[in-house]
Amino acid sequence: MDANGIRTCQSCGMPMSAEEHFGTEADGGFSRDYCTYCYQKGAFTESNITIDEMAKISGAMMSQLYAIPLEKAESFSKEQLSCLKRWAGREIALCGSCGMPLARDEDAGTEADGSRSTAYCTYCYRDGRFTEPDLTREQAVEKYVPMMASHLGIPAEKATEMVRQYLSTLPRWRE
Ligand SMILES: [Zn+2]
Ligand SMILES: [Zn+2]
Repeated sequence: MDANGIRTCQSCGMPMSAEEHFGTEADGGFSRDYCTYCYQKGAFTESNITIDEMAKISGAMMSQLYAIPLEKAESFSKEQLSCLKRWAGREIALCGSCGMPLARDEDAGTEADGSRSTAYCTYCYRDGRFTEPDLTREQAVEKYVPMMASHLGIPAEKATEMVRQYLSTLPRWRE
């Protein structure tokens, strides 16, 4: 586990915050990258599953949880899964403020010395500071809800629930 305490399973995207969420390596130690459902004794529990099959499973769950039309939930799940190490071939960092994947160099924010941030995106963080330093978590929720609602075709009320839950897993908003 890292200093932040929460890791995302790099196969299914489940947040892992307690020891029992983590899978196990062949030597019995905890996996750093994968959850207990995906990974046991150093091997994937479903070694042949494809990203599309995985997106169907997590899409169905999200669809139920947030009343998202199934097809949209599946394609949204696939977007999320495609940033994970198992499917991307490398772990792609997510912006710790808005959750955007830092897939390309130009997606990354900048530090005061001009170097690239490994923690935040270019929209949230420039020259070593947040672009909206006073933004509160609730304001951030309000800001992202309309985007999420229209992207997923769900009512604002459900999008609020979803965004609030999601932001609470990001370093900037964690309590
Ligand atoms: Zn998993
Ligand atoms: Zn961001």
